[in-house]
Amino acid sequence: MTYRCTGCGSTWSDEKLAEEKRNNPKLISCCPERKMQPETWGVSVSVFGENILTIESAHLSGVSNIDSYTETIRNCAHHLLSFIGDSHGERRDTEKQP
Ligand SMILES: [Zn+2]
Repeated sequence: MTYRCTGCGSTWSDEKLAEEKRNNPKLISCCPERKMQPETWGVSVSVFGENILTIESAHLSGVSNIDSYTETIRNCAHHLLSFIGDSHGERRDTEKQP
């Protein structure tokens, strides 16, 4: 599990921060608000307001008839990729998706 500072986004552990302080005595912290939180993520798919699938960094759940929703889940995945763009930084044509 990666921990990240909510103030500045630093992933320095307390040990790494102590090492950096030895190299730079003026360094107080990664930022004044240093607050390390576990870096978690999650995505959920709902149909008509009902949650049918949830995938999180430490959790997975879905309805028992999840196979009935394969096209809906694929469609949601395409929309996620369209929104953020693919790994090459190009956005897909959302108009082709229903
Ligand atoms: Zn910080």
